[in-house]
Amino acid sequence: MKTKKTILVTGGAGFIGSHLCEFLLKKGNVVICVDNLFTGNKENIKHLLDNKDFEFIRHDITIPLTLEVDQIYNLACPASPVHYQYNPIKTIKMGTIGMINMLGLAKRTNARILQASTSEVYGDPIEHPQKESYWGNVNPIGPRSCYDEGKRVAESLCFAYHWQNDVDIRIIRIFNTYGPNMALNDGRVVSNFIVQALRGEDLTIFGDGKQTRSFCYVNDLIEGMYAAMEKDDFTGPVNLGNPIENTMLELANTIIKLTGSKSKLCYDDLPKDDPTRRNPDITLAKKEFGWSPKVDLENGLKKTIEYFKRVI
Ligand code: NAD
Ligand code: UDP
Repeated sequence: MKTKKTILVTGGAGFIGSHLCEFLLKKGNVVICVDNLFTGNKENIKHLLDNKDFEFIRHDITIPLTLEVDQIYNLACPASPVHYQYNPIKTIKMGTIGMINMLGLAKRTNARILQASTSEVYGDPIEHPQKESYWGNVNPIGPRSCYDEGKRVAESLCFAYHWQNDVDIRIIRIFNTYGPNMALNDGRVVSNFIVQALRGEDLTIFGDGKQTRSFCYVNDLIEGMYAAMEKDDFTGPVNLGNPIENTMLELANTIIKLTGSKSKLCYDDLPKDDPTRRNPDITLAKKEFGWSPKVDLENGLKKTIEYFKRVI
C-alpha cells in the first residue's frame, strides 16, 4: 500500500517553490521539482539534491511532460514585473499552454492540482480590501497584462477542467510575499530595498512611495498553500496574504532602520498601471482552514536581511 505522496512542484527552484519543496519533503513526501531556471536558481535547492525523495528536472512546462504524480503545485511563472515583462509572449504561454499542460497531466494521473494565482487578477483594484468575489480592474493591453491576464485565463482553465473533466483543482491568490531565496536581481521591492540598503546605495522609490502593498512572510504563505491543497471539497479561489497594509515609504524606512544603513531615498517614475493599493481580505482562508499569517513585517524582514547578508 502506497503511503508517500509523489508531488510535482513546478517552479520549485524559485523563491516560493524552493521553500515549498523543503516543506513537502519534511512532511514525508516524494518531491519532483520541475524548473527551467529562468528566474530560479539551483542554489535554492542545492541542499535537497542528496535527498533520495527529491528529484530535479530541468524542463520548460510550456512543453508537455509525462510523469506519474499524486499532486501538482503549479508555481512555474516569472513573478517579478521586471522578469514577466522581459518576454511577455512567454509569460502568456505560462498562463495558457503551461497551464493546459499541467491540467492535462492532472487529468491523466487523477492528481489534485493547485494553481499559484495572484492578487494581480484584481489589477489596480477599486474595492478595498479585495475579496475573492471581486472581479478586478485589469488593463487588458497594458504592460502588466501578460501576467495579469495570463493568470486570469489560468484560473478560467482550471475551472473549465474542473467542470468538464472533474479535475480536482485548488486556486490560491497570493499577495506580495517575501523572504529568503529571493534572487538578488529579482527586482521586486523588498529584495531591491534590502540589497540597496546593505550596499549603501539609495533606495529607489517609484512614484511618491504612497502606494501600498501587504507583505506576507514566505513561511506563512507555505502553511496556507499546504492547508488549501489538503482541504477536501474546496476549489477556491482563496486569498493568501497578510492584511496589514504598508506604503513603500514605510517599507523603505523600516528596512533602513533594521539594516542600520546610511542609505537615503531616491525617486524614480512610477511604472505604468502600478496598482495604487493592495490589501487582501482573508476571511475565507480563516473560515475554510483556519489560516492567518503569524510573522509580522519587522521579524520577517530581519530574517530576510540575514539571508541577503549571507549571499551578497
Ligand atoms: P520566482 O520567479 O522566484 O519563481 C518562479 C519559478 O518558475 C522560477 O524558478 C522559474 O525559473 C520558474 N519558471 C519560469 N518559467 C518557467 C517555465 N516555462 N518552465 C518551468 N519553470 C519556469 O517567483 P516566486 O515569487 O517564487 O513565484 C512563484 C509563483 O507564485 C509564481 O507563479 C507567481 O506568479 C506566484 N506568485 C508569487 C507572488 C509573490 O509575491 N512572490 C505573488 C503572487 C503570485
Ligand atoms: N517599487 C519601488 N521600488 C523598487 C521596486 C518596486 O518603489 O525598487 C514599488 C513598485 O512600484 C510597486 C511596489 O513597490 O508600487 C511593489 O512592487 P513589486 O515589483 O515588488 O510588486 P508588485 O506588487 O508591483 O507586483
